[in-house]
Amino acid sequence: MIQLYIPLNFLGVIYREIKQSLTDLDKMFRLMDQQREVADAAGAAPLGGLDSPTVRFEDVHFAYETGDGNGNGSGLEPGRPVLQGIGFEIPAGKTVAVVGPSGAGKSTLARLLFRFYDIRQGRITIAGQDIRSVTQSSLRQAIGIVPQDSVLFNDTVAYNIAYGRPGATQEQVEAAARSARIHDFIAAAPKGYGTLVGERGLKLSGGEKQRVAIARTLLKNPPILIFDEATSALDSANERAIQAQLQSIAQHKTTLVIAHRLSTVVDAHQILVMDSGRIIERGTHAQLLALQGRYASMWALQQSAGAA
Ligand code: ADP
Ligand code: MG
Repeated sequence: MIQLYIPLNFLGVIYREIKQSLTDLDKMFRLMDQQREVADAAGAAPLGGLDSPTVRFEDVHFAYETGDGNGNGSGLEPGRPVLQGIGFEIPAGKTVAVVGPSGAGKSTLARLLFRFYDIRQGRITIAGQDIRSVTQSSLRQAIGIVPQDSVLFNDTVAYNIAYGRPGATQEQVEAAARSARIHDFIAAAPKGYGTLVGERGLKLSGGEKQRVAIARTLLKNPPILIFDEATSALDSANERAIQAQLQSIAQHKTTLVIAHRLSTVVDAHQILVMDSGRIIERGTHAQLLALQGRYASMWALQQSAGAA
């Protein structure tokens, strides 16, 4: 729906632009640039190699584009650099964790891997294929993301869970909901799985939305997983239980975990510590503790606060 809507809408914009100001070539090129952010490349092929989907970031630089603020959409400029030379690899089937202060650029990594935006410098590859060269639908099919702030559709709970896997049976939907510890809540709603969510339906808390998003991802069961502080909105009992679920589904998948609680990353194959768009430390939990740097002090802080 969204993928169809944007290009058509964009053609309308282009057409109006051509009609209204044939001379404003600069504006045209910027609009085309903006379009390129979300378009399939000519002749894009489906993402392959999903039996061994190694993920690589190679010298990735990124800045969000900012408008000129007057609302005419003409002035898109690269803003402040948000990622500055990020390089790392998630070997197929392994887990890489990212930690660091708010604003460091962690969620941006997740958005770029899902290709919400294109990068201008560097490369992101999956099984050796630049993600800009494959179809967006195949890319998004291969990746399950539990974002920091889950957005649900104004549709039934069942639709929201089954979204990642059209044709899923009611039993499969319920099994995923049970694993995400949201089944009892749904079953207690007036129309159960047929209950509408959103504005005119059932209003869900942040934690409940997060659990629906987790159920959706469990059901989708993709080869690549991204958890962006996936349990941050949950109370600690639910968090512990779901964390165990997430860890077990991540077992043999290529996984990027963005964590607010360091206790959830100790088993990661590699931990990246980010600050201000850079990776400032990397290693296993033990290696980073031995380094006695930023990670070690974050760890000490969380231990003493009882948060870990
Ligand atoms: P983290 O997840 O580590 O807290 P983010 O990746 O969300 O950090 O953000 C990194 C930086 O990019 C922050 O300074 C943030 O304000 C900025 N940023 C995030 N999203 C956008 C956006 N859509 N437009 C402009 N700036 C953004
Ligand atoms: Mg974030």
